[in-house]
Amino acid sequence: MYKEREERGQAEPGANSERPKNMSRFQVKKVAVLGAGVMGAQIAAHLVNVRVPVVLFDLPAKEGAKNGIVAKAIEGLKKLKPSPLGVPEDAVLIGQANYEEHLEQLRDCDLIIEAIAERMDWKLDLYKKIAPFIAPHAIVASNTSGLSITRLSEALPEAIKPRFCGIHFFNPPRYMYLVELINTPTTGAHVLDDLETFVTSGLGKGVVRAKDTPNFIANRVGIAGMLATMKEVERFALTYDVVDDLTGKKLGRASSGTFRTADVVGLDTMAHVVKTLQDNLNTQTDPFYESFGTPEVLKTLLEMGNLGQKAKAGFYKKAGRDVLRFDLASREYVPGGAKADEVYGRMLKKPAGERLKLLRESEGPQGQFLWSILRNSFHYAAVQLASIADTARDVDFAMRWGFGMKQGPFELWQEAGWLQVANWIREDIASGKALSTAPLPDWVFKGPVAEAGGVHTTEGSWNPTAKKFEPRRVLPVYLRQHFPETVPGSKAPGFETAGKTLHESGAIRLWTLDADQDGPSGGQVVIASIKTKMHAISPEVAEGLQLAVEIAEKDYQGVVIWSGDDPFSAGADLQAMLPAFMAVGVSAIDEAEHFLQQTMLRLRYAGVPVVSAIRGMALGGGCEIAVHSARRVVAMESYIGLVEVGVGLVPGAGGLTYIARRAAESQAASVHKDILPFLTEGFTAAAMAKVGTSALESRKLGYLLDSDTIVPNKDELLFVALNEAKAMFTAGYRPPHKRQFAVAGRNGKATIQGQLVNMRDGGFISQHDFHIAGLIADVVCGGDVDTGTLVTEEYLMTLERQAFCSLLTHPKTQERIMGMLSTGKPVRN
Ligand code: NAD
Repeated sequence: MYKEREERGQAEPGANSERPKNMSRFQVKKVAVLGAGVMGAQIAAHLVNVRVPVVLFDLPAKEGAKNGIVAKAIEGLKKLKPSPLGVPEDAVLIGQANYEEHLEQLRDCDLIIEAIAERMDWKLDLYKKIAPFIAPHAIVASNTSGLSITRLSEALPEAIKPRFCGIHFFNPPRYMYLVELINTPTTGAHVLDDLETFVTSGLGKGVVRAKDTPNFIANRVGIAGMLATMKEVERFALTYDVVDDLTGKKLGRASSGTFRTADVVGLDTMAHVVKTLQDNLNTQTDPFYESFGTPEVLKTLLEMGNLGQKAKAGFYKKAGRDVLRFDLASREYVPGGAKADEVYGRMLKKPAGERLKLLRESEGPQGQFLWSILRNSFHYAAVQLASIADTARDVDFAMRWGFGMKQGPFELWQEAGWLQVANWIREDIASGKALSTAPLPDWVFKGPVAEAGGVHTTEGSWNPTAKKFEPRRVLPVYLRQHFPETVPGSKAPGFETAGKTLHESGAIRLWTLDADQDGPSGGQVVIASIKTKMHAISPEVAEGLQLAVEIAEKDYQGVVIWSGDDPFSAGADLQAMLPAFMAVGVSAIDEAEHFLQQTMLRLRYAGVPVVSAIRGMALGGGCEIAVHSARRVVAMESYIGLVEVGVGLVPGAGGLTYIARRAAESQAASVHKDILPFLTEGFTAAAMAKVGTSALESRKLGYLLDSDTIVPNKDELLFVALNEAKAMFTAGYRPPHKRQFAVAGRNGKATIQGQLVNMRDGGFISQHDFHIAGLIADVVCGGDVDTGTLVTEEYLMTLERQAFCSLLTHPKTQERIMGMLSTGKPVRN
């Protein structure tokens, strides 16, 4: 397949992956971001997260230090939630500059991202000012959400025009996967390829190329959808709380639904995007134009200054613990929280075809409303596809990645039955139920799409302009994604069945990529994919991991633990342990824990490198697997920690042993004689159940080492981990020596205990927290021994197990476990 993909790259017309031969590879050594507002400052933060040097510009401050505006924006980044920075202290890495003193600094920037206020004249003035300082190879890209990229480019000097394009990030840029790239008639052929390569691999984003039309793809379809939803809300006289319940998770969309999402985005921002549609489109260019009027409720809320979350009032307002909803008729906030009829929740769980049929035929307003908004979204996407995007896949990806939808409009339509749904839409248009009388394009009913039963096929996705199915763009960077996100009809092999299976149970699959899929030396590393819910670690998973090592030691170069999607693992499977505990008592658990500990040691001392490929949560037992691996390859968005205290337990599968060992190793490598300072950080992390909020923070907590690799793009994780394992093997990998190491002993424990007493007496921790933290201190200090006593990992693991089992019979721990199992939330007792 690897070969095949390469060949496809050459054969495909229009794939501009080749740079002119006389040009060297485009490398982004430094980026300038112009504009330290909401977007610019956060984009700069994300560049720091992925280790790209960045300088952030804004206007010179009128008073005080000239960099005042930028400095204030960078300070603001530290307080923003969700945090734009992996670790807040990295804010100092953002270079500060202003247009009066520092334009010279632009000369060594390879990429300049403009993100100043949304005014054509201001942007053009700025381009004029910076033009003389732009390096001859640098790409200049605007983050505008609504202005025409082509019109912006027209005022540029000829020399810069070929290197100018649009780069549309979504807010918040660290977390939103989508970046839309837009070219102009004068953008050089390789510029978007170069930028796509950097944005994908370097920034970890999903790129969609959009045509230069108002609001591009995601905001065009998304905001038209929101306006259409508001119209249907009025028509069916529904309240915002019920609509949000219907249009959130149940519908496979962002859990905040329609109106709470608007509140979070900000109603002024939304009104701005709506205005862009109103100002730049008309009934000719968009047959849905009539429905783009600003809804009465939005006008009213804007007049009242109720701009959403930032103004503490919008469609919703909090009053103590209650959430009130806005009532347009009375202009008052009234009690909210109403839910949708349960019958629709059940309908929405049915297979797509049946679901849409039930909704369309339902009598109640809520069902009719749901069918109407889905029909509107299909209708709009089909009518506008040719003008806004190259292919239907681009629209689906844009809606998934930019609006948090599980499926884009075309995917759902196709899954539900292409022609059936098309006929329903046609009937609704004829009977005046649709928002526009514009007919569906001919390609919907006739020709290749109708014959294939949809827009996504194994050949590719429908491009209505080229009138053919087009595969995904082939760029070398995509060879780094073994299992990229796909659209259903493409029938790309999923990781669940790909490659060669070596062993499979309900809990785990051990397999290898096909030799040719993984490059010339492929198929040589065992991949262990956990299959349990939340990738929880059951005894069967542990057995599978041991088997993976055994198989790899015989015939392969290493093991990569990679389970396809989030999370890496939410921890040990408490539920699976419960029956044994009930039937046999604590001794059954002692045995199970012992087996888990043995598994961790097996991973650590395997004769081949074991690499954990982590994305999302690696909690409790997941974290313990990670720290016992020879190396970790980690997606930027990884949240790692030992959280057992939350369920009234201590880490019992080697987590505390790791903390003690790491402290001893750090002390041995330093000039300090005292081990305690090295232990404090690990102890505190475990005792307070701290979880890193990014890979960078997880590293600060000690769960990742400097030698581990952080990967910006989640879809490159497997590729990098396999290469890491192969490189380690090739370099002559041998497991670490089994060494004894020094512990802090009873004196160390006494010191920690003293601090814990203060915390308990000060009311910071409960008596049970105090008890658990005391047990953790006991284990990480090595129990009742002298300071400096040498111990083995097995010895510490025995202490760990004893602490774990003693807690299991404690009523307060049992209360925590039962609480977690029944509500999923930690019990504080
Ligand atoms: P913002 O108002 O938060 O920040 C704009 C920045 O531009 C400010 O720091 C201001 O000092 C600077 N500025 C104002 N006038 C200027 C001038 N004449 N010359 C140079 N700098 C000037 O805006 P924002 O929300 O960060 O938006 C910036 C750009 O990003 C806009 O083009 C916007 O359309 C686009 N965008 C915004 C979002 C969003 O959700 N906010 C999302 C995607 C794209």
